Amino acid sequence: MSLGEFDLIARYFTRPVRRAALGIGDDCALLAPGAGMQLAVSSDMLVEGRHFLSTVVPERLGHKALAVNLSDLAACGARPLGFTLALALPRADEVFLEGFARGLFALADAHGIELVGGDTTQGPLNICITAMGEVPVGGALLRSGAQPGDDLYVSGTVGDARLALEVFRGTQQLAGHDFERVREAMERPQPRVALGLALRGIASSAIDVSDGLLGDLGHILRRSGVAAVVEVDAVPRSAVLGAQPLALQRTCTLAGGDDYELLFTAPGPAADRVHGAAREAGIAVTRIGRIEAGQDLRLVDGEGRQVTHTFGSFDHFKA
Ligand code: ADP
Ligand code: MG
Repeated sequence: MSLGEFDLIARYFTRPVRRAALGIGDDCALLAPGAGMQLAVSSDMLVEGRHFLSTVVPERLGHKALAVNLSDLAACGARPLGFTLALALPRADEVFLEGFARGLFALADAHGIELVGGDTTQGPLNICITAMGEVPVGGALLRSGAQPGDDLYVSGTVGDARLALEVFRGTQQLAGHDFERVREAMERPQPRVALGLALRGIASSAIDVSDGLLGDLGHILRRSGVAAVVEVDAVPRSAVLGAQPLALQRTCTLAGGDDYELLFTAPGPAADRVHGAAREAGIAVTRIGRIEAGQDLRLVDGEGRQVTHTFGSFDHFKA
């Protein structure tokens, strides 16, 4: 490496901290959660070829590496405080580092969150971020709180990232500007942090959609010990995806993955508060079904007819 490890950290990743008690440069960073707050901690690793394609622009990769972690904090209703970055790089490529850091810090600044430490090593490109946030004691949104009778909601639209992936794989084709829009959904997801915060005390359970809507819903159902009915055609999708054949729309919306929208439940009488929270957060939420007693997941179409299809969700050791 022409650029040494410490020069690299100093040049690309060291910025003064304002919220943390101590940032980069010592053996540990020091964070100071507020009184009565719990620390919410989540790690996500991005591996080249597994989570991103080598064609991704570095700026978008920097954005996405942090976005997927902030999405986990959002799903818990946590307010982001700081994050660490563990980075393995094949070489100290300054064009890559400059773009990566730009995308990373633009999103960090948008959320008032700062980089407080990390680790840097030579090796196959691998990015691991650990994000830390705070949430009032007992106030975190969990997967385990869904109750029979609750409504099921999802934020934004889902499925575009999967459609983009299919275009990259060559199984689908899209006009240039349509492709750019779904590619943006795949490469620049927007973590729903404001919505997670606004849903505290309103949602009974929540998860972020990273491995496919039905698979992630399955985590809520198992942790909560409940069943659900999903109205498959009510699941919100973009105009670009909505113009595709119905079977493809269903695959992308229900089993797509990489959406980073919030999937959550709330009691029926809380519907007005749910929509108030969505307005406050500036993101649409759509009711897509309900929670019932039992343990199965049923899919119905707009006329209430049963939809039979097995949509797998993503599993690293099965895929
Ligand atoms: P140590 O050997 O004590 O673990 P290092 O020499 O690995 O410390 O790192 C020096 C400092 O730089 C530490 O404060 C560490 O948190 C920080 N650091 C290392 N790599 C990164 C990175 N990629 N991003 C942010 N901070 C980093
Ligand atoms: Mg170290």
